[in-house]
Amino acid sequence: MSTSPEIVADAAMAAAEPCFVAPELIDASGGAPRLVAGKCKACGALSFPRAPVCAACLAQEIGVAHLASEGVLYSFATVHQAPRNWIVPYHLGYVDLTDGIRVLAHIDGEPKINGRVRLGVGRVGTSAEGTPLMSYVFTPVSGASA
Ligand SMILES: [Zn+2]
Repeated sequence: MSTSPEIVADAAMAAAEPCFVAPELIDASGGAPRLVAGKCKACGALSFPRAPVCAACLAQEIGVAHLASEGVLYSFATVHQAPRNWIVPYHLGYVDLTDGIRVLAHIDGEPKINGRVRLGVGRVGTSAEGTPLMSYVFTPVSGASA
């Protein structure tokens, strides 16, 4: 099997571009990133990641919704063991968003329980080919607490 020079060039360019881990969880297409969640069409309950069945009412019609971009850090731990190519150590925490849902996320900077955090995008690893691996991360809002 041979590979044309054009395909090799495309592969090299693609390797230099950052790649989102689980890209279906974040919409970073226009301006500020937003988390993409499920919203039950029967009762309005939110799920993140988007669940196929509503945990509140068991309905199976789940729409798509963008979540709030700010919240309060409920708790966190510092992780030292991770999949290969993941940057360690890192902080993993639960964030209570202002729209009432708790999400699990990377926490950048110096996390403080009950401190306000804001959604962004950050590098969480590097692929075996050298591609930066990106994901949603929450960063403490300096000087603010809930
Ligand atoms: Zn429901």
